Amino acid sequence: MKLIFATHNSNKALEIQKLLPEVFHVLTLGDIDFHEEIPENELTIEGNSAFKSQFIFNKFNLNCFADDTGLEIEALDGRPGVHSARYSGEDRNPDANMNRVLEELNGFDNRNARFKTVITLIINGEQHIFEGIVNGRIIDEKRGTNGFGYDPIFIPENETRTFAEMELTEKNQFSHRARALEKMIDLLMRQ
Ligand code: IMP
Repeated sequence: MKLIFATHNSNKALEIQKLLPEVFHVLTLGDIDFHEEIPENELTIEGNSAFKSQFIFNKFNLNCFADDTGLEIEALDGRPGVHSARYSGEDRNPDANMNRVLEELNGFDNRNARFKTVITLIINGEQHIFEGIVNGRIIDEKRGTNGFGYDPIFIPENETRTFAEMELTEKNQFSHRARALEKMIDLLMRQ
């Protein structure tokens, strides 16, 4: 069964393909010759995730899924949240994004934060939503060089290392994305 992943990132698609039984064939937008960016203008992570999969379903009428992720910081009323990628500007600079977060949190004792991934799957015309969350905290400096995005300033709960100080394989065992994905795979296995 063809399953379109609403992304241009073939590495992301490959990771998921490896976890699925062979009966599922994960294709990226490039694989179906769609080279535009899908708008991400919704006000929530859930909204963006749903919009992207609906967009592809409406256009191609194929089984598909989309993901959207954000970092939600308690003391910042959930920001950067849906704005995580572009928190410090349109150039999506992870270093500048982290600097803005560290500045805004300066002087705050409450460093609680969480990563949230929402995957929206549309299969046989039905929509399913899967959420993956990792709770943790924001430290006051960047540590580590692995991973991407906000990984150097985020320590997951029950850990002493940031995501960026872990091997990617270790992070991927319990990351927000992995947790949401696990739920989607559970459902797909039952199809
Ligand atoms: P996306 O929805 O996967 O494109 O993620 C949106 C933004 O959230 C990214 O540009 C990163 O800034 C941030 N982000 C997503 N996943 C992670 C992660 O696993 N670690 C750190 N930052 C992340």
